Amino acid sequence: ARKPRHTAKARIERVQSTAPSPVRSFADFGLPEPLSRALRDSGIDMPFPIQSATLPDALAGRDILGRAQTGSGKTLAFGLPLLARLGGGKARSKRPRALVLVPTRELAMQVADSLTPLAKAMGLWCRTAVGGLAFTRQADALNRGVDLLIATPGRLSDHVRQGTCVLSDVNFVALDEADQMADMGFLPQVREILDLTPPRGQRLLFSATLDGDVEKLVKAYLTDPVEHSVAPVTA
Ligand code: ADP
Ligand code: MG
Repeated sequence: ARKPRHTAKARIERVQSTAPSPVRSFADFGLPEPLSRALRDSGIDMPFPIQSATLPDALAGRDILGRAQTGSGKTLAFGLPLLARLGGGKARSKRPRALVLVPTRELAMQVADSLTPLAKAMGLWCRTAVGGLAFTRQADALNRGVDLLIATPGRLSDHVRQGTCVLSDVNFVALDEADQMADMGFLPQVREILDLTPPRGQRLLFSATLDGDVEKLVKAYLTDPVEHSVAPVTA
C-alpha cells in the first residue's frame, strides 16, 4: 500500500549508478510482450544505464527521481513503465490515464516520435497537446480517445480550462526535463496540473540537475521517491 502523500517529506532513497550497469536485456525486465517486440522491431535491445537503473522501481510502481544528462535515454526510462502500467485498457475520451509533461513543443514531438509506435503496439492512443498547433484539431483528437498524453504545460492548461481535456484519471505522470521547465517559468502551471491529478498516482520526474525549485516540486509531489543518478558518459 502506498504511503499517504503527507508523509513524503524529504525521504528520498538515493541510488547512485556510476558503474556500468550489469548487462541485462529489455526482455529481463518483464515488460509486456508487445512492448518488448516493438523495441526489438526498432532495433533497441539493450537498455541504457538510466533505463536499467529506473525500470525495476518504476515498473514496481515507485515514484522516481531520475537524474541523467541529455542523450542518456530518459524517454524510454519513463515511457516504458508508463505504457507497461497502463496495460491494454480502452481509451476514454478526453481522459488520459498517463501524462508526460515537457518544456517545449520540440521535445514533445521527439517524445511522441519515440512513444507513439510503442503505444500503438500496446493498443493505446498517444496524443499531443502543444502550443503553436491548432487547438481545435488537438481537442478533436483528444475527444476521439487518449490514453497517453504528451503535453507542454501552457497548452495543457488551456485544454483543461476549455474542458477539452480532463485530468482526473491521470494515474501516471512523467515530468521530463523538470529543470528546464523550472528555468522557463512553468512550475506554477506544472503544479496546477499536478493538483488536478489523483495524489496517489505514480510520478516519475527526470531532470539533469536538481536545484531548489525542482527539489521543492519533488518534495511536494513525489511520495517516498527513489532517486537514480547516472553519471555522464565520459568516453
Ligand atoms: P534523453 O531524453 O535522455 O536526452 P533520449 O530518450 O532522447 O535521451 O534518447 C537519446 C537517443 O538514444 C534517441 O535517439 C533514442 O532513440 C536512443 N535510445 C534510447 N534508448 C536506447 C537504447 N536502449 N538502445 C539504443 N538506442 C536508444
Ligand atoms: Mg529527453
